[in-house]
Amino acid sequence: MDYQSILENIFREIQPYAREGRQADYIPALAEVDPDRFGICLRLMDGQIFELGDSLTRFSIQSISKVFALSIAISLEGDEIWRRMGKEPSGSAFNSLVQLEYEKGIPRNPLINAGALVMADIMISRLPNPEEFFIEFVRKLCDSPSVDYNRRVADSELSTGYLNAAIANLLKYHHNINNGIDEVLRLYTLMCSVEMNCRELSQAFMCFAKSNEPFRHGGVELTKSRVKRINAIMQTCGFYDETGEFSFLVGLPGKSGVGGGIAAIYPSLYSIAVWSPRLNAKGNSIMGMKALELFTTETSESIF
Ligand code: GLU
Repeated sequence: MDYQSILENIFREIQPYAREGRQADYIPALAEVDPDRFGICLRLMDGQIFELGDSLTRFSIQSISKVFALSIAISLEGDEIWRRMGKEPSGSAFNSLVQLEYEKGIPRNPLINAGALVMADIMISRLPNPEEFFIEFVRKLCDSPSVDYNRRVADSELSTGYLNAAIANLLKYHHNINNGIDEVLRLYTLMCSVEMNCRELSQAFMCFAKSNEPFRHGGVELTKSRVKRINAIMQTCGFYDETGEFSFLVGLPGKSGVGGGIAAIYPSLYSIAVWSPRLNAKGNSIMGMKALELFTTETSESIF
């Protein structure tokens, strides 16, 4: 398959959408990002990569970090994690308070903010230095020692993160957070602030495509069965309340972030990362979703 020409065709085909939507600005530092960037990187099992555009420009991975947090939390807690959160699609916004109130402080799934705050709490309880552990784990996953937190973005989010603070308080009220709220919010926003480029992100997601070769690092072990579960959760919960639509259009397990990134995998075939900051009303990258829809259509390589 001539993947490079397929990517080039897709880039041409998505141009009509180039000015639709806008970048996230509820986190002040993200409003400064040039909205007209576009990068994509496809990585095959044998390590071959095909990329285009700004695939080497780093961006804020935001909620994509929740998949890495889940990998750690599942390794630290095993099935106990499911006492503290569910594994059902939320059908509501990633920062919704309403559902959490109805469901008495048990987040619907790990890939919404409430779930990630509980995972940050687990990491703080279990690890001597969770901040260091998380970034080292991510560096190992993407095989890039210079990947790091962007503390300015994290501070910027913390300074206006009233809704996440409300979620953390509700979780604490229901005894689903054991540590201090400030500490949990700090780790959560730091995890979201990690910056990677499409090439690094596609490498980081290889561990979810390659379940036959379990990834191990510092006590985190992504066994075949854990990868199966993480992929299932990405498939059903990875795109906020647009997960059904992403499944319908693209047909791959994946995760998006409000920085405009999307990472997705086809088990035993490839991982793919795309970045374009302009978002739709649900918080997903417009060009990113369109590019992935065209990619699985033109290659006939979707899991369905
Ligand atoms: N840090 C962002 C928030 O909590 C992450 C949102 C996202 O990417 O979905 O609002």
